[in-house]
Amino acid sequence: MESPCAIVSCGNSIVQDLGECSLHCTKNDYGTDFHNNSVLSMFYDQLVDYILKQVYEISLSRPILSRDDFKAYLLDELESETAEALAREQVIVFDHIYFPERDSRDRFDYFKVLKKVKRCAF
Ligand SMILES: [Zn+2]
Repeated sequence: MESPCAIVSCGNSIVQDLGECSLHCTKNDYGTDFHNNSVLSMFYDQLVDYILKQVYEISLSRPILSRDDFKAYLLDELESETAEALAREQVIVFDHIYFPERDSRDRFDYFKVLKKVKRCAF
């Protein structure tokens, strides 16, 4: 099994050779990150999981939408008023997350995900 991220209570698998997951590892300029072990696409995937964890595991409310459907909504694969309503209710706290530089042309541009959740606290 891969070793988990060095950040306490994170539990994500790490980016190769970095000792931390893509959410917590130190970022470089866009060009460097782009070529570094696909850290940017990993960041996108782990950010989506991080949001799902907050909504489905840490939040006290019981969401009326399935986790898979909400994930599809975050990935822009599902249009759903229920998902939008759920997203509006949530305040997602991004604690100690190291956001990389981004490019809106990338499939894995995380800004698209942040726009979906609407209420973010940094
Ligand atoms: Zn981590």
